Amino acid sequence: MKIRYFGHSAFEIIGKNKINVLIDPFIKENPSCPLSSDELNPDIICVSHAHSDHLGDTIEIARKSNSYVITNYEISRYFQRYGITAIGLNYGAKIDFEGLEIRMLNALHSSSFDFDRSTPYGGNPGSFLINFKNDAKIFHAGDTGLFSDLKFVIGDIYKPDIALLPIGNIFTMDPEEAAIATKWINPKIVIPMHYNSFPSIRQDPDKFRKLVKNEAPNTKTEILKPLDTLRFTI
Ligand code: ZN
Repeated sequence: MKIRYFGHSAFEIIGKNKINVLIDPFIKENPSCPLSSDELNPDIICVSHAHSDHLGDTIEIARKSNSYVITNYEISRYFQRYGITAIGLNYGAKIDFEGLEIRMLNALHSSSFDFDRSTPYGGNPGSFLINFKNDAKIFHAGDTGLFSDLKFVIGDIYKPDIALLPIGNIFTMDPEEAAIATKWINPKIVIPMHYNSFPSIRQDPDKFRKLVKNEAPNTKTEILKPLDTLRFTI
C-alpha cells in the first residue's frame, strides 16, 4: 500500500489491488500542496465534510477521472447536481467495492458549505474507515475533537493499522488530544494532518511524535511532508 500526502488533510491511498482512493482533496487552494489536481486520477474520492478545505477540488477531479464520490447524504445531493456519481452515506453505513470497503463514522465537528455569501448546512461531519481487503485498514478522522468513539468504536471495534489524525488545534484536536486519541486507537502507525497549512494551525509535529511516544509507545509516528509517500505492508 502507498499513502501519499498532499498537505492539510488530503491523502491518496493506493492499495495492492491498485485501487486509488483520494481523501479530502484540497489541492488548488492548499498553500502546502505543490501539485496540480490534473495530476490525480482516483477511482474513489472520500469527502469528510463540506468545509472548503476538505471538499476542495472534488468536482473537477471527479468529473475528469469519472470517480465515485463517497460522502454524507447532503453533500452527495450537491455533487449530483454537477453530474457526479456521488453516494451519500450516514453514520455507520458501509459501502462495498470490489477490493475494499468504506465505512462512514462519526466526527465531532461541524459541516457547512463555504459559499461566497452563505454557509448552508452540509450534513453531519464524518470520518472514514477504509478497509483494503487483504491489505491495511486506514482510519481518516476528518476534522474532529477528542470524543469517546475514537476509543470505543475506532479503537475497540475497527482497530485500524494506520490512523490519520488532525493536530492543528483551533478547528480540531491539538497534539496533546491527538496523542490521547492515538493511545485509544492504538494503530501501528499514526500520521498527523491538518496542521501548518495555515498560520492559525501552526504546530510542531515533533512535539506530537514525543507525546505519542509517551502515550502510545507501540505506535510509530510518521511525519509526512507534502508529496511524501509512505509504503506499508501488513
Ligand atoms: Zn472542517
